[in-house]
Amino acid sequence: MKELNADVVVIGSGPGGYVAAIRAAQLKKNVVVVERDRLGGECLNYGCIPTKTMINTSKLYSKLGLSSKYGIKVGTFSLDMQRLREWKNEVVLRLVKGIEMLLTGYGAKIVYGTASIKDRKTVSVKGAGEDIEINTSSIIIATGTKPAALPNLQPDGRVVITSRDAMDLDRLPESMLVVGGGVIGLELACMYQNLGSKVCVVEIMDQLLPGNDPELVRVVQRKLESRGAEIFLSSSISSVNKGEKGATLSIKTPDGEKERSVEKVLLSIGRVPSLDGIDTASLGIKTDKKGFILTDDRMMTSVEGIYAIGDIRGPPLLAHKASKEGIVAAENVSGIESHADWKVIPDAVFTDPEIATAGLTEKKATELGYEVKKARFSFAALGRALASDEVDGFVKIVADAKSDTVLGVQIVGPEASNLIGEAALAIEMGARIDDIALTIHPHPTLPEALMEAAELAAGRPIHQLRL
Ligand SMILES: Cc1cc2nc3c(=O)[nH]c(=O)nc-3n(C[C@H](O)[C@H](O)[C@H](O)COP(=O)(O)OP(=O)(O)OC[C@H]3O[C@@H](n4cnc5c(N)ncnc54)[C@H](O)[C@@H]3O)c2cc1C
Repeated sequence: MKELNADVVVIGSGPGGYVAAIRAAQLKKNVVVVERDRLGGECLNYGCIPTKTMINTSKLYSKLGLSSKYGIKVGTFSLDMQRLREWKNEVVLRLVKGIEMLLTGYGAKIVYGTASIKDRKTVSVKGAGEDIEINTSSIIIATGTKPAALPNLQPDGRVVITSRDAMDLDRLPESMLVVGGGVIGLELACMYQNLGSKVCVVEIMDQLLPGNDPELVRVVQRKLESRGAEIFLSSSISSVNKGEKGATLSIKTPDGEKERSVEKVLLSIGRVPSLDGIDTASLGIKTDKKGFILTDDRMMTSVEGIYAIGDIRGPPLLAHKASKEGIVAAENVSGIESHADWKVIPDAVFTDPEIATAGLTEKKATELGYEVKKARFSFAALGRALASDEVDGFVKIVADAKSDTVLGVQIVGPEASNLIGEAALAIEMGARIDDIALTIHPHPTLPEALMEAAELAAGRPIHQLRL
């Protein structure tokens, strides 16, 4: 057995772990990162980046079908799934190499293998080569999550697939039934619809993207349905019959039992903590009922010296949240007092159109006792949205009627994921409606929609009749 000494061992190299490792190494700590798979974690290798690369192609492909409308004559065109996979892999590899370069450049040591925590000062690693024992002052757990499964619906990588499998199909399925209309399920449903698959979504709750503002979700659902998707809400899978070329599923719906035959079934019913090798109970690390690790706002667990960051701390499961938590943990283990004291964690859903939110919804603000002022500006009234033929959706701004302080922004529409950054900054800085309304936004651009919504909230809209 080989022995190593470290100041900090980071277990997992996703957007939580690798960022923590870089920050701790910048602060002159002797850092070891242990990864059992690939640098970059779920986000870079199987999640955020591959999905967004393929979603980008899917939107382009769907737009190509409309090219004559925009004055472009294209001959026949078709999808090359093999090339799309290669392109996605090229993007991922480039970023993985970038992370490796940053980690080694800052002096962090990368060890490949599965880590287990022996005690609060010792991490053991079993890999392809010699077993390693690392003596360390601090441990940061950043092991993320894995897909949840249903007892009657286990992924087999062939007919019943996970989001990982969905990123690696060598042929476009003619039809796909998505079990679970949450973020991942819906992003992939929109993506496969844009690539040409017939899509069906089964969601157990009474709305898609449960927990999101129904006003926003309705826009996405309408677009999916207008292009032929079937959506079953308050529904569940009662049986699955797998065959050579796909599966036939019985769906329990409020209108009775329905049967659908599809080529692929995508299972996306949520994620559970990934804790292989980390026996939280025997280590004394407190978790919630679902097994997610509990920490204080410095990311320290109930055990002194052991920290946890990212998805392993539970929802919201977001890469940018994991990274910020990684910085907080790294600073604390390096002797700098650091806290998770952000006001908002913006959220983006890469459906078609996109949904992005920051801060409080109208409902939440009212529940918290605010007297709410709100305004909604439609992309249909915005020059740039029209020029891009992307007019579905709106920007909604929610403010405190007494102080005009912006409490929340919800966007459904083109580039919502890119637009929400301005809203997050505004809320973090305690901006008032006029701060956005009086800021000159370049024309014609999509961010003007936020300014227009703010002008409307301020009671002096220019591009909308005052009602
Ligand atoms: C399909 C999909 C799309 C997504 N899209 C987005 C998006 O667009 N935007 C967004 O913000 N979020 C997105 N997410 C969520 C995002 O991927 C996660 O929030 C993020 O990856 C969490 O980072 P993390 O560092 O906590 O964990 P992870 O990225 O899950 O990394 C954990 C790492 O730990 C390693 N590991 C686990 N156990 C051990 C062990 N015992 N020893 C050694 N290594 C171990 C794993 O191999 C893995 O590499 C998506 C997720 C999926 C599945």
